[in-house]
Amino acid sequence: MPDTVACIGLGNMGGPMSARLVRAGYRVQGFDVAEPARRALADAGGVAAADLAAAVRGAAVIVLMLPGSDAVAATVHDGQFAVGPGVTVIDMSSSEPLRTRALAAELAARGITLIDAPVSGGVGRARTGELTIMTGGEPADLERVAPVLACFGTATRAGGVGCGHAVKALNNLLSATHLLVTSEAILAGERFGLDPATMLSIFNSSSGRSGSTEHKWPNFVLTGQYDSGFGLRLMLKDIRIAVGLADQVGAADPLGRAAAELWSQAAAALEPTADHTEIVNWLRQDGPR
Ligand code: NAD
Repeated sequence: MPDTVACIGLGNMGGPMSARLVRAGYRVQGFDVAEPARRALADAGGVAAADLAAAVRGAAVIVLMLPGSDAVAATVHDGQFAVGPGVTVIDMSSSEPLRTRALAAELAARGITLIDAPVSGGVGRARTGELTIMTGGEPADLERVAPVLACFGTATRAGGVGCGHAVKALNNLLSATHLLVTSEAILAGERFGLDPATMLSIFNSSSGRSGSTEHKWPNFVLTGQYDSGFGLRLMLKDIRIAVGLADQVGAADPLGRAAAELWSQAAAALEPTADHTEIVNWLRQDGPR
C-alpha cells in the first residue's frame, strides 16, 4: 500500500474522494488551481500543495480528477510533473479514450503506468465511498492500486487502457438521454394535469424507470435545488465523447447525435456553471429552437 497519494483536481468529486483517502490513513498531497479547493483538503486533514511539483513529489500513486483530457494532458505535460519510473497515474476523470491510450503509451516510454478509472455515482456516492469505478489497464497494474480504488467504491475492469473511459462516456450518453426523455415525458404529463411526483412513483415501479426517475428528478428537480454537483458542460463533454466514439467505430447513433445537439443548445443558453439537471428548466422555459 503506497503511503503517499497525490490528488490533482479537488473539485466536486476530487474533494470528497481525497478526503476519503485521508480518512483511510494515506498521506494525501493535493493540488487544484482553485485555492478554495486546496483549503478544503487542508481542512479535511490532507496536505494542500502549493503547486503541482509539491503534490506529486514522493507519491507512488497519482490520482487525477480533472474536467477531462485537456486538463489531464496539461497536467502530465507540465514541467512540474516531475515523476519518475514506477509511478502509477490513475486518471479518474471522464476523459477521451483514444487520448488516454496515446497518453498511456507516451508515459510508458518514461516507465510510468497510466490506468483509467472513471466513476459513476455523483457527489453523494463520492462522499460515502460507494462509487462505481470502471477501470482500464493491465490486471497487475490495477491490482497494485486496488487498495486506493477501494476507498472510493467498487471497481470493475472494463478492459485494456482506455476501456474505462469508453464505457464511462457510453454510460453518460444513456444517462443524458434518459434525463432528457424523462423530462419531456413529465413536462408533457404536467400539462395534461398529472402530478410529477405521482408520475415518478408510477414510472419507478414500471418499465420507464431509470436513474433519472429514481434519483435525479426526485432529489434535484422536484426539490427545486438543481444541485447534483455535476455540471451541464461536463455532461455535454461526455455525450460528445460517446458520439465521437460511435462515429470512430462506424456505429449507428442517430439518437445520440440528437441528444448531443439538444444538450449543446442547453449549454449555450444556460450559465457556464449550470448543473446538468437544469436542462429541465431549459426544456420547460426556452426549449429547443
Ligand atoms: P469540478 O469542475 O467540480 O472539479 C474539477 C477541478 O479540477 C476544479 O476544482 C478545477 O479547479 C480543477 N482543475 C482544472 N484544471 C486543473 C489543472 N490543470 N490543475 C489542477 N486542477 C485543475 O468537476 P467534478 O464534478 O469534480 O468532475 C471531475 C471529473 O469527474 C470530470 O471529468 C467529470 O466529468 C467527472 N465526473 C463528475 C461527476 C459529478 O457528479 N460531479 C460524476 C462522475 C464523473
